[in-house]
Amino acid sequence: MILRRDLFRLAAATTLSSLTPNLARAEQHAGRGMVSPRIKDIQVIECEPAGVRLTVVKILTDQDGLYGYGCATFTQRADLVRPAVEKYLKPFLLGKATDRIEDIWQSCYDSSYWKNGPVLNNAISGVDQALWDIKGRQAGMPVYQLLGGKCREAVDTYGHAGGEDYADVVSSARHYVEQGFRNVRVQIGVPGMAGYGSSAAGSSNFKPLHDKPLFEPAQYIRRALKMFEVCRQELGDELNLLHDVHERISPNQAVLFCKEVEKFNLFFVEDPLSPEDIDYFRQIRDNCATPLAMGELFNSPHEWQPLLEGRLIDYIRCHLSQVGGLSPARKIAILAEQFGVKTAWHGPGDVSPVGHMAQITLDIVSPNFGIQEYSPFNDRTQAIFHGCPLMKDGYLWVNEAPGWGIEVDEKEAAKSPFTPSKNGLNGGWGEIRRLDGTVIKQ
Ligand code: MG
Repeated sequence: MILRRDLFRLAAATTLSSLTPNLARAEQHAGRGMVSPRIKDIQVIECEPAGVRLTVVKILTDQDGLYGYGCATFTQRADLVRPAVEKYLKPFLLGKATDRIEDIWQSCYDSSYWKNGPVLNNAISGVDQALWDIKGRQAGMPVYQLLGGKCREAVDTYGHAGGEDYADVVSSARHYVEQGFRNVRVQIGVPGMAGYGSSAAGSSNFKPLHDKPLFEPAQYIRRALKMFEVCRQELGDELNLLHDVHERISPNQAVLFCKEVEKFNLFFVEDPLSPEDIDYFRQIRDNCATPLAMGELFNSPHEWQPLLEGRLIDYIRCHLSQVGGLSPARKIAILAEQFGVKTAWHGPGDVSPVGHMAQITLDIVSPNFGIQEYSPFNDRTQAIFHGCPLMKDGYLWVNEAPGWGIEVDEKEAAKSPFTPSKNGLNGGWGEIRRLDGTVIKQ
């Protein structure tokens, strides 16, 4: 007769024997955890290979040859990112285990008490992306594999077309079509004005009361509407046309503009409003079905959350390093997916190739990917950043090498240091004013 206590003993013995291999594996794993890489040094690499200041964070570990790179580019305030990394994040992070990416992100985010600012977010992004690079190198996999693998083969992009006049814009757009692009952003200059995406020679019909760059929203709107008409006539209906208002018009003008361009069937209108005016998106939605893209200036969850939850935009286009790196951007992509909003990350020249690789990694793993902004990498950039994303027929291809698949040649980077800016603003932007001298957003 088997007694109850014998049953317990039998069960305990059976459980222990079946657990022994698992315990051994767990101990082994814990052992590996104890020897997981630790942050040994954090360095900042700065360079300016294409007229734009780029900042990259390099994290070195205590394991020989194991390191990673992250983009921390905030070109308009580039000189402030280095001390944010070196004086604040570095002493906070030295000795920490590199494999706890989320924990490191959260603790860095909280360590300044006040948060969601562009300088600090970029510094955290440099660390965050470098840790993902390290994890990929450890795994021997590209980062996209660590995020679940590809949802598509390559990343569809749009190029920047522009010109002084309508014919120039059409010609510039055709240049992209000939390269295989299916999507082109079109911008036109306004004579005598500092237009976004394209300027035009000549002078304004009215004399400004100042000597600064000039911009009048109403004149730009009239010219942009005519540009879309010409582009549709000359380029046909099949080419996807995009446009960036760059938050230069008033909220009411934005409502009217989006309503007027509905007939041109644009892929999207970008930044018709500034972050301060996002409550006006509901008015635009109530008046037209023009697809809306927003978010490149966002730094805080309080900015993107209401637009996503309210289904008030169609594309979220944050700048990855401005929101704090790959980790928070991935959460934005997943949140957007729940509300039927697609991604269109900000990707012009003020993102380093490391940042571009982080973006297209997110593009390739996100089911709700929409489109990717593209900016070419010149020869100097490719001499510094080995392994830039490959562009072919309008598609960007992610690297298959471990991590981001990018190596930074620091000797080459040193040959392209930050250059003194002509206006003495260290990469910062100057002002643009209306005829009467009023500063406008740019
Ligand atoms: Mg933009």
